[in-house]
Amino acid sequence: MTQPSPLAYVPFVSVDHMMQLIHHIGLERMLCDLADAIEADFRRWESFDKTPRVASHSAEGVIELMPTSDGDVYGFKYVNGHPKNMKDGLQTVTAFGLLAEVATGYPVLLSEMTILTALRTAAMSALAARHLAPKNARCMAMIGNGAQSEFQALAFKAVCGIDTVRLYDIEGKATDKAMANLADSGLTLVRCASAQEAIEGAQIVTTVTADKQYATILTDNMIGAGVHINAIGGDCPGKTELHRDILTRSDIFVEYPPQTRIEGEIQQLDPDHPVTELWQVMTGAAQGRRSADQITLFDSVGFAIEDFSALAYVRGKVAQTGLFQRLDLLADPDDPRDLFGMVRRAAS
Ligand code: NAD
Repeated sequence: MTQPSPLAYVPFVSVDHMMQLIHHIGLERMLCDLADAIEADFRRWESFDKTPRVASHSAEGVIELMPTSDGDVYGFKYVNGHPKNMKDGLQTVTAFGLLAEVATGYPVLLSEMTILTALRTAAMSALAARHLAPKNARCMAMIGNGAQSEFQALAFKAVCGIDTVRLYDIEGKATDKAMANLADSGLTLVRCASAQEAIEGAQIVTTVTADKQYATILTDNMIGAGVHINAIGGDCPGKTELHRDILTRSDIFVEYPPQTRIEGEIQQLDPDHPVTELWQVMTGAAQGRRSADQITLFDSVGFAIEDFSALAYVRGKVAQTGLFQRLDLLADPDDPRDLFGMVRRAAS
């Protein structure tokens, strides 16, 4: 029986179309949808191929490929992390991603993912907090007010019911920008003069800074009982945010241990230090928060399945809305053996 042939073009979601899609769906709705899509895929964790991402490090940053497949669809993301870019007027993180049909190997979606990564990272953070943060959490500290920060704030509002965000950045203009962008969000915003001040009264602490070193954004004395820490910015070898002593007092939750042990806060710990995989919390195989006093830590590095979930969600939405371009990416001769003939005929 002949298989239906894949599309002769590849749907391409540009930055412009991604922004239109976000406004069409609504940013907070989309953050909630992405959290649900990621949770659905984490619940079927065992059906995915998994590998730590392939990283190419340089003095200034890293370029990474993040592949996975569920047997029907294959996906990967290209992403960089260059903390010094900001000073040159460039993004710290840029990305694009692709989905392909496993049966034919043909690409079925190519998408910008600089914006989509910010959404999926925020959705993943809020999803982890939905399982780990104290149930009555309403106030979050956000240390680092750069490109990811507003998405984080809105995801915690939409998914977890946070109503107050306490902001701090070493650069005041970053906090100015975040406060202005979030002014009509419905969140109560509190500008803080230090990380210490930002964490006062916060039940959730998000660290989302960028610095290519073992930084200490939070010291041990800053973290009291019962807090949930959402640590985003430690995501590369030699790039962490938390003092080691916080880690040894926390119950640590991770995406995919073989990758997090290389890249996350836990690179500071022994390789057999116990951690819990979040997918097991979601399926009920492992416990999330057990007590009001427990310090929970989501040691976020970003894993390929989250990008797969986000791309699959976008694929469905752009098919419904037409918010894509047809990309002439695949050579498609009428006779598949006659690739050369197709090139030759193009001369005329
Ligand atoms: P960005 O460069 O736009 O913002 C980082 C901000 O951190 C800047 O405003 C900077 O002034 C501030 N900062 C640096 N050091 C600080 C300190 N000691 N105290 C307070 N603020 C400080 O970067 P971004 O795109 O917002 O990304 C933030 C971090 O998140 C990066 O490290 C990036 O690699 C990481 N990231 C992680 C994931 C994930 O899935 N875990 C996904 C995307 C980005």
